[in-house]
Amino acid sequence: MLDRVTKELENFLQLIEQRSQFHAGYPYNLSCDYSAIAKLFGFLLNNAGDPYVEPDFGLHSRKFEQEVLSFFAELYKIPENEFWGYVTAGGTEGNLYGIYLGREIYPDGILYSSEDSHYSISKAARLFRIKHSVVDSQINGEINYDHFEQLISKNHHSPAIINLNIGTTVKGAIDNLDKVLEILARNEIKDYYIHCDAALSGLILPFLDVAPQVNFQKPIDSIAISAKFIGSPLPCGVVLTKKKWVEKVETIIEYIGSKDTTILGSRNGHAPIILWYAMQTRGYAGLAREAKTCIRNAEYLFQQLELREYPCMLNSFSNTVVLQKPSQRLIKKWQLASFENWVHIIVMQNIDREKIDTFIHELILEEGLLNNAKDFQLQAVS
Ligand SMILES: *Cc1c(COP(=O)(O)O)cnc(C)c1O
Repeated sequence: MLDRVTKELENFLQLIEQRSQFHAGYPYNLSCDYSAIAKLFGFLLNNAGDPYVEPDFGLHSRKFEQEVLSFFAELYKIPENEFWGYVTAGGTEGNLYGIYLGREIYPDGILYSSEDSHYSISKAARLFRIKHSVVDSQINGEINYDHFEQLISKNHHSPAIINLNIGTTVKGAIDNLDKVLEILARNEIKDYYIHCDAALSGLILPFLDVAPQVNFQKPIDSIAISAKFIGSPLPCGVVLTKKKWVEKVETIIEYIGSKDTTILGSRNGHAPIILWYAMQTRGYAGLAREAKTCIRNAEYLFQQLELREYPCMLNSFSNTVVLQKPSQRLIKKWQLASFENWVHIIVMQNIDREKIDTFIHELILEEGLLNNAKDFQLQAVS
């Protein structure tokens, strides 16, 4: 019996090792080693309740959670005494939380989000019964500002709850905060709440010198970031908002001896330690290096495709390379997410130049693009 269990686990481990080696289609940093904190998995850790209210229950990691939140608050330029947030189960929970807060503040608000928004945004509209106005997207995945203005001006008597994409899921497009603010001002909308969905790019853009910066120095109200870029064996993320908004909606629950400010009840207590460990060992400087490398490698992949006139697209400041669908064999092997005629490769830390060259080489062989001297060179290298 035990033998069978051990064997099955071993087989699964091998399968996952193999699949991790050729994973390029989803935004997960797979180059992380958390063996230093492995012993903690022998214990229960549950951060149920507010991260800043010490509960009676002792098996929690609030100290680490608070440090993680302070790290993000500094990155997103919101003073220590003005922010609130928590470590979530991922980007989705952060989006649900942000939009929930927007609705609590503006119960009659209309939610605006582009059609390229993540599916968790329309889920939030359904769950919280918010009137949802879907805005067209441009071809690059960015919100269509003209259409947004049309919709806003038609409903200028209603408060606006806006989901701004800081790196869309499919094309890595960034909605322009300044343009959105201009449109709100032009239409004299004073009651608005801006939630930023920065699931992936939220840990890339702050580290790029010339990229547009979205942070709390501008009138945004909440931001959701997932651990995709940091890399975590357990899906998780962070949501940040302004303390003054949370104070408006909080309720105290005697049973847990804490405030019921979070969407979930029980919350993973290991996730904050994973994030804390990543921050301690890599710091701003390490993350900045990784962000710049990923962007450069995405540009490299894009150039390699362009050189062979293979249909492709890459947004500025994005590590998401969109390319025409290759063969099913390549889609399966590299676990590429496909949509209509396209797939994307998300150039994370584990997709280095060598992996990119291997992929290009396989693409060349399959697509019969082998008529360029550079291709032979590449073949010789890989
Ligand atoms: C991945 C993603 C999400 C959801 O994050 P999860 O951690 O999977 O819940 C939300 N928004 C965007 C833009 C994403 O790319």
